[in-house]
Amino acid sequence: MTTLVSTIPQIRDALRATFRSGLTRPIAWRQHQLYQIARMAQNERELICDALKKDLGKPKTEVLMNEIGSTIDIAVKSAQRLPEWAKTEHPEVADWQKPWKPTIYKAPRGTVLIISPWNYPMILTFQPLIGAIAAGCTAVLKPSELVPTFSQLLEELVPKYLDPNVCRVVNGAVPETSKLLELQWDHIFYTGNGRVARIVASAAAKHLTPLSLELGGKSPVIIDSAYDIDLAAKRILWGKCNNAGQICVAPDYILIQRDKQDELVKAFQKHYNAFFPDGALDSSLFGSIVSDLHHKRLTSLLSRTKGEIVLQGRADAARRRLEPTIVKDVTDGDSLLEEEIFGPILPIVPVDSLDQAIDFVNARSHPLVLYAFSDNESMKQRLVSETQSGGIVFNDTFQYLAVSELPFAGVGESGYGYQFMKYTYDTFTQLRSSIDMPKDVEQHLAIRYPPHSEEAVKALTAAVYTPIPSSSL
Ligand code: NAD
Repeated sequence: MTTLVSTIPQIRDALRATFRSGLTRPIAWRQHQLYQIARMAQNERELICDALKKDLGKPKTEVLMNEIGSTIDIAVKSAQRLPEWAKTEHPEVADWQKPWKPTIYKAPRGTVLIISPWNYPMILTFQPLIGAIAAGCTAVLKPSELVPTFSQLLEELVPKYLDPNVCRVVNGAVPETSKLLELQWDHIFYTGNGRVARIVASAAAKHLTPLSLELGGKSPVIIDSAYDIDLAAKRILWGKCNNAGQICVAPDYILIQRDKQDELVKAFQKHYNAFFPDGALDSSLFGSIVSDLHHKRLTSLLSRTKGEIVLQGRADAARRRLEPTIVKDVTDGDSLLEEEIFGPILPIVPVDSLDQAIDFVNARSHPLVLYAFSDNESMKQRLVSETQSGGIVFNDTFQYLAVSELPFAGVGESGYGYQFMKYTYDTFTQLRSSIDMPKDVEQHLAIRYPPHSEEAVKALTAAVYTPIPSSSL
């Protein structure tokens, strides 16, 4: 049910009052809430699978693996590691500063807003919430209106498992989100597209609210011609088929040496036939496109390409189905290189050298991830040092998301603000610096008080005359 816009300020105020009451401070309380998230995901998995089947045609295995399993895993691990993360720290300092007791307190940021998209609506809502609760924040969740069954289910499940004074779901579309964005928050965590990110960033700027923007973009794949082309095709196709290509880290386009293009196409055909012997159109192992609008957008991109379609995916607009489609000989300026594809279409751009592939990537916005298939260490190091992207993955695709100890974030157009496990906890935590000056160091501090003797000036400005080591260059 859409949340009444007029109630949104009260929801924020109630959560703020809870935060100020100190309820969220004890670590054991936070751990309980995190285990409750895991219990919710585990107990209600059938309802969640059904909702995502209805909204996105999501295959059950994909939901159990990427949405439910990941939520449980992150919630349980975060609860277990929280005592270590939340420890007050005492940094190493010079001996003469030790009596000041320099301390870093881990302070929750406060009451936060989490806005999530439709493509992985469960993990992309709970992953930030787990970090926010671990940090001791209270939170509003704003799931996507494009997955209405799931968003409604969330509104029903969250108060059953989590303290309703601590986490509330606001459902709705632009009017409700706009109202939320008018209010002051202590952090906004937005996952979605760059256009709306700019609206969110402008609203946050009015209150100087800190922000995480988890965005997307065109993630390229570079294939070294000496690599095993058959294995590369199998791994890339798997990475492209999850959620019918509607994943922020889907391989978006391929750069390969011109004379290897046809071998790659053949390998794609072989693996496609192995993955979906009867085609993907009616396969329960392949998802649907989220909306009519997105289906139309994808088929329009295809109708305008000047490349050659070599794996012809059938489309069924009425059921929002689109099979994987591979297009070769795609060149700069093509419709398939205009925007993030976010669907099961994979263009191949032939190049003549690694230099050309690097230039192609660098001429565009920094991607969320750069994929490269190569056994050549010097090629890998060239890609690390000569390109920029949120992540860089060698010899596979989005499997790297399974390593939740790695920080995940974009750079430039693909966003900013680190997440996953401790990185999400850190996002919602303020490092609060402190010293506690003892009375009996007064004699050592005497030189700071004016008027300064010549000797005091010498001592106070000693850093200016620090000997600077000679550099090797
Ligand atoms: P979406 O349309 O569901 O929008 C995301 C959220 O923004 C929703 O909650 C929606 O209500 C809100 N919203 C929409 N219009 C708004 C407006 N005018 N003002 C305020 N709020 C508004 O999802 P989407 O943006 O289509 O999601 C897909 C994008 O998200 C892709 O670009 C994808 O790459 C990116 N993405 C990034 C990550 C990541 O972790 N980096 C993960 C998933 C998706």
